[in-house]
Amino acid sequence: MGNGHCDFCPAHSSSNTIGSQECECETGFYRAAIDARSSPCTRPPSPPRNLSMVFSDQATVMLSWLPPADTGARDDVRYRVACDICGGAIHYVPSGPPEGNISNTSVQLSGLEQTATYKIFVYAENGVSPQSGVSPFTSITVNTAPFIHSRVSGVTSRNLGDDTLLVSWKKPLLEEIDLYEVKQYLRYSVLNVTMRQTLSTNFTFRSLPRSTEYGFQVVTTVTAGLLFICLLCVLLAALGFQTVLIVCFFFFCFPRIAMAADPITNGSKCSNTASVFYSQSLMTHPVTTPLFPPGAPRMYVDPHTYEDPNQAVREFAREIDTSLIMIEAIVGGGEFGDVCKGRLRHPAKGEITCAIKTLKPGASEKARLDFLTEASIMGQFDDANVIYLQGVVTKSNPVMIITEYMENGSLDTFLRTNDGKFQCIQLVGMLRGIASGMKYLSEMNYVHRDLAARNVLVNDSLVCKIADFGLSREIETNTAEGAYTTRGGKIPVRWTAPEAIAFRKFTSASDVWSYGIVMWEVMSYGERPYWNWSNQDVIKAIEKGYRLPAPMGLSEATSSLMCSLDCWQKERNHRPKFNAIVKTLDTLIRNRRRTDSCSVQVRRGAWDPFTAATLGRYIDACSSSAVTRRRGHYAAFTVTELTRLGVTLVGHQKKIMYSVQTLRAQLCGAQVAEGFLV
Ligand code: AMP
Repeated sequence: MGNGHCDFCPAHSSSNTIGSQECECETGFYRAAIDARSSPCTRPPSPPRNLSMVFSDQATVMLSWLPPADTGARDDVRYRVACDICGGAIHYVPSGPPEGNISNTSVQLSGLEQTATYKIFVYAENGVSPQSGVSPFTSITVNTAPFIHSRVSGVTSRNLGDDTLLVSWKKPLLEEIDLYEVKQYLRYSVLNVTMRQTLSTNFTFRSLPRSTEYGFQVVTTVTAGLLFICLLCVLLAALGFQTVLIVCFFFFCFPRIAMAADPITNGSKCSNTASVFYSQSLMTHPVTTPLFPPGAPRMYVDPHTYEDPNQAVREFAREIDTSLIMIEAIVGGGEFGDVCKGRLRHPAKGEITCAIKTLKPGASEKARLDFLTEASIMGQFDDANVIYLQGVVTKSNPVMIITEYMENGSLDTFLRTNDGKFQCIQLVGMLRGIASGMKYLSEMNYVHRDLAARNVLVNDSLVCKIADFGLSREIETNTAEGAYTTRGGKIPVRWTAPEAIAFRKFTSASDVWSYGIVMWEVMSYGERPYWNWSNQDVIKAIEKGYRLPAPMGLSEATSSLMCSLDCWQKERNHRPKFNAIVKTLDTLIRNRRRTDSCSVQVRRGAWDPFTAATLGRYIDACSSSAVTRRRGHYAAFTVTELTRLGVTLVGHQKKIMYSVQTLRAQLCGAQVAEGFLV
């Protein structure tokens, strides 16, 4: 209005009134507070592109990305980085608040924990993001690997006199050693532990009382913050120190090695030492509506309390259109039908691999409802260690349950097919994941009732997730492990707490009992609990106070941390809670000094109490035999040699030879140059 000249409305704006002083922005376009009224309207940027990561060292990752393809026609794009579980322990460079305005396209995060899964989000924002309320982001999952073990050779011990012993070891080639800490303790006691420190690769122990058996543990820290543990147990034989027998030696180093997955295929490269995986997805904005408002405290709701079970399915599981699902292969057989691998076109994440459980055609209405009940249960959970439900297909046939895909399948089979291949810390990492999933479930007041390695799934980053929410509905399920109890229900006896077997008293405490059994399964690479005993024998033995043998080869510290015996307390209130178990395992993982010898000793043969007792009987004869003197270790024993030593009972020979063979395999696997084991 007036005498001034007229302008066209700037880009993405318009005016409906003649002589307007300002043109209004179109929907989805905005002017920032600092923008002139005559400036064009702009919009938020698209997400950052090609988010990738490189590990600078074990605990430090550098993330970088490309600017958004669409800056929203503005030149003030900034980035904001957020991480789900980072907390205050993670340091960001560029520094400042983690959420801060970052103008460059990279950020370094340091102080990452081992065996942790971090989800890191990078948001692209510009001057109109606040008005739009939209911050497009891309995310990356960083899985840090557990520490790995390596071994050194050249451990020797030498008598320097009646009460003096020199223990020496070789410096590992890889790292700069800061210090060795040598712990000396009475072999069967954790009391009287003496700690010495040395910079050299040997230590002389003086004034050792005679006729005493000692253990020595050498722990070394290295400049890079890595940790080496050398556990050297030295048995000092009865009279003076004439015979020195080194019984076991383990040396672990724990460098964390960063490896990136192929961002295109989302696959993962891994070495047999350690690996870090990431997955990447581009999102314009989160599309799926969460079923539950974030942060709201939730309790598990038993779908059986619904009069109409279909209502529970509708409430707790998203219906997925069948056109979004593509079945690729059958990977397993479930109680209700095939389990397949496939692809799901996810509205937010693009195409993702998924597992598809199908209900066999012709199933009864009851079977259909039972099948879907698992989805109603699973759909209530959202935890990194619990299988995630993507949704269900109920409006067309076949009825399907879509979950995240776990590349390595069920834990029991996975362990059996990879017998002996993992580092102790990796096994402990798996146990930590399972405990954490159970902690989440118990906090939601959910009792699983069928926790067992077969019901835990493993993904390609070795993350374990609780699955199979079938038995929780009823203990009537017809699983392979189900056994009739006196009261008609079917219970997986070997995994079930006595009070649950006897009175159907299923609680989180009975889940803790099952967790103890899972621990045992994991540390024995999928051995069947109570071997080939009958269910009745197991029940009777437990009633009489028998428990599966604790991992004999673990150090006191580790085996007490391993909890099994506590998990199997008869009085259920005396069992630890899952949050305490998680804490304990975290301490164990953090305090690598305690993760000493389990990689070898917990293996199948070594756990067999009968073998241990049998070996014990012949120990003197064996230790002074020509073979051990000549070859330096028990792995060289043959049956002929055993007979010559007076081990004539075939049963005993078999047991000893079984252990010898296990030992041989372990020594080969471990590449220990000088092997020693009783
Ligand atoms: P279930 O009916 O849950 O016991 O599953 C039967 C088998 O299918 C399991 O033992 C696994 O081998 C496989 N399976 C089940 N769920 C998944 C999954 N989410 N990812 C990969 N394999 C799975």
